[in-house]
Amino acid sequence: LVCELLCVGTELLLGDILNTNAQFLSREMAALGIAVLHQSTVGDNPLRLREALETALERSDIVLTSGGLGPTADDITREIACEVMGEALLADAEILAKLEAFFTARGSRMTDNNKKQALVPQNGRVLENHNGTAPGICMEKNGKCLILLPGPPRELEPMFRESVKPLLQKYADGVILSHTVHTMLLGESAMEARVRDLMDSANPTVAPYAKSGEAYLRVSAKAADLQQAERIAAPVLQELQARLGNAVYGLDCGSIEIAVVRLLAEKGKTLAVAESCTGGYLAKRITDIPGASQVFACGIVSYSNDIKRRILGVRAQTLEAYSAVSEQVACEMAQRVRQIGGADIGLAATGYAGPGEGAGLSYIAIDSEDGTRSECIQTGRTQDRDYNRYVSASRALNLVRLFLQGA
Ligand code: ATP
Ligand code: MG
Repeated sequence: LVCELLCVGTELLLGDILNTNAQFLSREMAALGIAVLHQSTVGDNPLRLREALETALERSDIVLTSGGLGPTADDITREIACEVMGEALLADAEILAKLEAFFTARGSRMTDNNKKQALVPQNGRVLENHNGTAPGICMEKNGKCLILLPGPPRELEPMFRESVKPLLQKYADGVILSHTVHTMLLGESAMEARVRDLMDSANPTVAPYAKSGEAYLRVSAKAADLQQAERIAAPVLQELQARLGNAVYGLDCGSIEIAVVRLLAEKGKTLAVAESCTGGYLAKRITDIPGASQVFACGIVSYSNDIKRRILGVRAQTLEAYSAVSEQVACEMAQRVRQIGGADIGLAATGYAGPGEGAGLSYIAIDSEDGTRSECIQTGRTQDRDYNRYVSASRALNLVRLFLQGA
């Protein structure tokens, strides 16, 4: 059984909006155990939409579309889909009444163009829209299932959960379960080199991907039910973790800050941070996580040298001798903020975020009862300020993780 997604909207092609419907639908279909083998996007153009629909229906059993069901002239998905399926469009009195009520309730009058939202294919099924005007449509014909969904995510997502999912249950043969192994410090290719042979496995599949200076491995198992899928995935997950060692910071844990806050809570330790180049990013990412108040003492954004000296108490001679972006200053920042915060762990980051020559260099340091440890980071990206700040903060958090895991 093969499924594909076809997203309709010129604004998607122009990059005006991000195609979150494709992500949402892909995830939901995977959870149902239905393989999505193609995704495509086409503009609000009748010829190209028709062509894309014909191609999709030729090679796939289930086709889901998003967008173009609204009242305006560029909303053409319903009409074209019915032409392709050979279905006549008829006005549905019930939907028309609902539309009229919708506008009356908002104290406005329905314009004529809205009436086309009440058109349904003769042998189609209507999927109610509780969050907007355009209903969705399902057509099952000649062994194919075509489902049209509205574009706005706040309409599409509930409609999928309420109406489409139950409809597709009959096609679902089993489930696809995914787990993600999160690693830091290893690049994507270094990670791949260590686990290359496992990536040839067909079930579970093992796929690497990289995001913001981190490398992930996704392990997906397909089976009749969840328990069986877990059993298939387990030995491979274990093997991956064994091979990647302490580069692994978590399984399905979302982010390094989640892993760190969880570990701090587990070990009953507190953290204080002193930030220069990250400008509050560290404190922000830690306090994004519920439960941070139990483990986070304080964050000091000591951006200028003057504040590094006066508020943190970094020694003037250290700043002069080594400059603000140095291992020595990072270490003193970590030591001092730990004292100020009365915390078990002090953490610091100082560097050049850029853009410009030399950017991407930063020093991070951690101070605890075990002493002070620092690390130099070179992202090699002189133009990417956001990336440099993000990675600097991530790697600093990773120092805390390694410390708490006794690595
Ligand atoms: P409407 O009745 O609002 O016109 P529609 O079904 O005709 O709905 P579109 O006109 O294609 O849908 O898109 C309406 C809005 O929905 C877009 O402006 C965009 O904000 C959002 N949208 C459409 N497609 C997507 C998508 N694939 N991912 C995320 N958002 C989308
Ligand atoms: Mg529209």
